[in-house]
Amino acid sequence: MNILVINCGSSSLKYQLINMKNEEVLAKGLVERIGIEGSRVKHTTIGKDEVIIEEPMSDHRKALELVLNALVDSNYGAIKSMDEIGAVGHRVVHGGEKFAQSVLIDDDVMEAINDCIELAPLHNPPNIMGIEACKELMPNTPMVGVFDTAFHQTIPMSNYIYPLPYKLYEKYGIRKYGFHGTSHKYVSQRAAEMLGKPIEELNIVTCHLGNGASVCAVQGGKSIETSMGFTPLEGLAMGTRSGDVDPAVIPFIMEKEGLTFDEVNQMLNKKSGVLGISGISSDFRDLEEAANEGNERAKLALELFSNRVKKYIGAYAALMCNIDALVFTAGIGENSITIREHICDGLECINIKLDKELNQVRGKEAIVNKDITSTAILVIPTNEELMIARDTLELVKNN
Ligand code: ADP
Repeated sequence: MNILVINCGSSSLKYQLINMKNEEVLAKGLVERIGIEGSRVKHTTIGKDEVIIEEPMSDHRKALELVLNALVDSNYGAIKSMDEIGAVGHRVVHGGEKFAQSVLIDDDVMEAINDCIELAPLHNPPNIMGIEACKELMPNTPMVGVFDTAFHQTIPMSNYIYPLPYKLYEKYGIRKYGFHGTSHKYVSQRAAEMLGKPIEELNIVTCHLGNGASVCAVQGGKSIETSMGFTPLEGLAMGTRSGDVDPAVIPFIMEKEGLTFDEVNQMLNKKSGVLGISGISSDFRDLEEAANEGNERAKLALELFSNRVKKYIGAYAALMCNIDALVFTAGIGENSITIREHICDGLECINIKLDKELNQVRGKEAIVNKDITSTAILVIPTNEELMIARDTLELVKNN
């Protein structure tokens, strides 16, 4: 069966068509600037040249129509007809407490996803638009929702509840939800496979370090703690997000700088993190280059970033007693040799011993420690699309 994986943002749509017989990607692409002037589809069928289709797209329905046309195009398409798409898997950011697993989408599920809009006002609405568009264009194809939050629903209450008045949890669902769940799940399972050990016996710390970044403690295959919280703002310092700050700073700067709630929110989400500290860029390649040229604030941003990851690893080592495997994934985790080195530097005291030579690897699976009695350190490119496709197949097969 071929499965179409869809990931809708507010003005973008990423897709992959995967043949589940061998889990091979048949085609993939990205639609940019939906609803904005200059919209286009960048489509690649594997083995053929990339094509760029420039056409006005007023909404996600039009975008998806062009994607489906591209997939069946006689020149640059991957399949002959839409009948060759057996099911669609949708990434949905927030499933609240309603979804601990992926689900087949029906009217009740749509209602529940709608109920979660309040928790993810920027993310869930475009996800819903993607599902609605698919329903219209492919009314007879089964669809599955895969939630970023679902993997973290195993976190015990003592870890997910905030020390705020309890009634805020009861009234508004204020608690830690965690994100990047599909990625943490994929890389922890892959780590167990690479080590040839049952995941049930392993304590794994997974570091998803991209523009958004989070760390997760995976015990016996289950998430028991993660660094992102009620929103994806908590935890690590990120490209442009602050991560953890003393909450008292927020009313203080609002008063001092005369900022509105929206302005302070914008500052914490878009102008902070390593961009805020360096004043140069949120991109780690730029920061590494500037640091090498002696830029002190770029150096500081990189140090702060690595130290935060290190502190979370230490905290999770304490939570799980020991760490059998430490995994690096996403843009920075997969590619930055120096950041991996900085994070592991000094962690010998908890048996984390990175091998600098083995660590000279970018963008491919590798084990980067030598001493087999120490914590296994793995670089694993994440593959959220494959995880979504696997869950979709599983649910469609069983129904
Ligand atoms: P997103 O959260 O947007 O999916 P990614 O996982 O693609 O993010 O990660 C983007 C980050 O990865 C950027 O900060 C980028 O600088 C970083 N990155 C990509 N390649 C490299 C590299 N070779 N060295 C250092 N950082 C890299």
